[in-house]
Amino acid sequence: MSQNQSQNGALESTCKVPYTLTLAQRMNQHDPKRYPDNPCPSCNGSGWLYEYAFEDPTGVKAGDQGCRVPCPVCYDRKHAAKNRLASGLPEELKNKTLKGFECSEPWQRQALEAAVSFAKNPERLLFLGGQSGCGKSHLAAGIIYHVSESGSQPPLYYSWPELLAAVRRSSRNWRADDVRDLVKDCRAVVVLDDFLAAPNGRPSTAALETAFEIISARTANKRPTVLASPYTAEGINGFYSVLFKKISRAAGDRLISIDPDERKDFSMAKVV
Ligand SMILES: [Zn+2]
Repeated sequence: MSQNQSQNGALESTCKVPYTLTLAQRMNQHDPKRYPDNPCPSCNGSGWLYEYAFEDPTGVKAGDQGCRVPCPVCYDRKHAAKNRLASGLPEELKNKTLKGFECSEPWQRQALEAAVSFAKNPERLLFLGGQSGCGKSHLAAGIIYHVSESGSQPPLYYSWPELLAAVRRSSRNWRADDVRDLVKDCRAVVVLDDFLAAPNGRPSTAALETAFEIISARTANKRPTVLASPYTAEGINGFYSVLFKKISRAAGDRLISIDPDERKDFSMAKVV
């Protein structure tokens, strides 16, 4: 969390850093070289406005105390982009939005509605499972896009195989941050994409137990979670019924299973 945000995410002016007046003036000048992505007319593109605690009508006075406040024009946009960047979302999903999700079929509309409902009110669990390439990752990324704007803490995105590998690495090294604990405790939205995906088509017992441990901890503490899985809920029931029960109880009506059907696979035709 940035030191410029309070626990509840409200922005506070940070008057801790003293700036000389000349430095403050310099900071407010637009610098396209330093911030090429943010041509904000109000600030220097940094997302902050530098203000002076004491106005000095005679001009520059070295040693004046200054403070910085979030730029009213662009801070929210910049903050959301920063949150998205910190989420770990891969490049190909970075710009996916819920608005950009094309849907013509009833099953697509149902999945989109569940994703929009979760993004507006992220609580408990959203499960999107079934046919590969039908846009589940797009919807999960769209939720990250949306909640990045409103949440004070960056959402977290993990591809399940990568998360498992990281959990294995961190359990071998006691000094490493325990990724499993990070995911279990994160208060913001956590997306687990390709949930339970396994190279040989069947998740290992260790993977199922890790999944159960993470989902149990998150649902017990009411942490918002999105699961996008190549398996339908029924498929997961076939592997591990206690995990299925945990997921279906937490998801309630936000449990979307898309029956396997190659016509729903758009991954080869276009990037979704
Ligand atoms: Zn600005």
